[in-house]
Amino acid sequence: MPRKTKPKPTDAAPTAADPTFASLGLSEPVLRAVEDAGYRAPTPIQAEAIPLVLKGRDLIGLAQTGTGKTAAFTLPLVDRLITGPRRTRALILTPTRELCVQVEESVRKYAKFAELDVAPVYGGVPLDPQQKALRAGVDIVVATPGRMIDHLERQNVVFDELEVLVLDEADRMLDMGFAPQINCIVAEIPPYRQTLLFSATMPPEVEALARKYLRKPVVVQIGLRSAAASTVSHAVYPVPADRKTALLAELLKRDGMDSVLVFCRTKHGADRVVRQLQHEGVAATAMHADKTQAQRTQALSDFKDGKIRVLVATDIAQRGLDISGISHVINYDVPQQPEDYVHRIGRTGRAETTGDAFTFMAPDEIAMVRTIERILGEPIPRISVPGYDFGTVANG
Ligand code: AMP
Repeated sequence: MPRKTKPKPTDAAPTAADPTFASLGLSEPVLRAVEDAGYRAPTPIQAEAIPLVLKGRDLIGLAQTGTGKTAAFTLPLVDRLITGPRRTRALILTPTRELCVQVEESVRKYAKFAELDVAPVYGGVPLDPQQKALRAGVDIVVATPGRMIDHLERQNVVFDELEVLVLDEADRMLDMGFAPQINCIVAEIPPYRQTLLFSATMPPEVEALARKYLRKPVVVQIGLRSAAASTVSHAVYPVPADRKTALLAELLKRDGMDSVLVFCRTKHGADRVVRQLQHEGVAATAMHADKTQAQRTQALSDFKDGKIRVLVATDIAQRGLDISGISHVINYDVPQQPEDYVHRIGRTGRAETTGDAFTFMAPDEIAMVRTIERILGEPIPRISVPGYDFGTVANG
């Protein structure tokens, strides 16, 4: 029977270094939404901010996009609104229409099991549908400042019972000249509210805004920590796209590469890697959606029994994989979603053997790796293998 490795139970005693979403004090419908989103563990800003927001504190979060800041304020916000009256109780102000839509989508995702209504409010589109939504009654409004004022003037919504105000990307809102609109909106909101301000930077204007509208705020600052604290050893290998298989074959020659799970973006990519590895005499098998269930089960059991050393899987296959004792995870392609990286890395780090996680990064994947590093809250060390990295190849 294949052994199963399950994530740690949520009631395991949390340590400061290893918080779980449950240990932060979030309630069940919110935890379900988090699980549904595929997040294994809180990002650094979530771990710090969520307990404070749940306590009702005002908070200044110094964090840029890509750190998981939206969930850092939305999860405790949803938690708070689950109980209490169905009124408009929360307003999230964002600088742009794009961010407004993005935040609204996140709110919907995190409020999925909480039965809360959300309305997005931004300019450049007709007022009517927004007006209808607001008048029907919503729990949470996500808005850009200019359009929010239009609706307030038309009395499409009142903020008499608003409890939580979030100023997202406050520095950008001020840069865009929204200070007068923000002042006008805040004047409509009761003073005994909770106010959360997020900003990538803290110029004097943002400080002034915080002084004006926040009460005894705690400041949570998320910089990139050093990678040394990490339990899993991650590394990024810069390599041109057409040298990835050669690098993989090279790494597989090293000691300790006993059971290696390789992730590729596409089925064809996975098949090609398997063919090339087999050509080099490496026992490898592919696992993806085109394989029958019987083939997949066989591949998995051969991998677990050590008959094949390398299993090459696609993104689609990865969620169902439940394997212990992997020595290495290799991201042949950089995962498209940061949460997939966290998922995959979890497969080695949380299993009884500590694994290494390597990510092959072609030049066009650099931006994606940066996003992942922001989510992790730490940089991933780069390892150059002479003859395979960009520099040496370009020079050679
Ligand atoms: P944000 O900084 O809020 O724009 O979030 C950036 C990305 O991180 C989004 O794609 C989220 O879905 C993702 N994300 C947020 N929290 C987590 C988490 N705890 N684990 C993995 N991914 C996350």
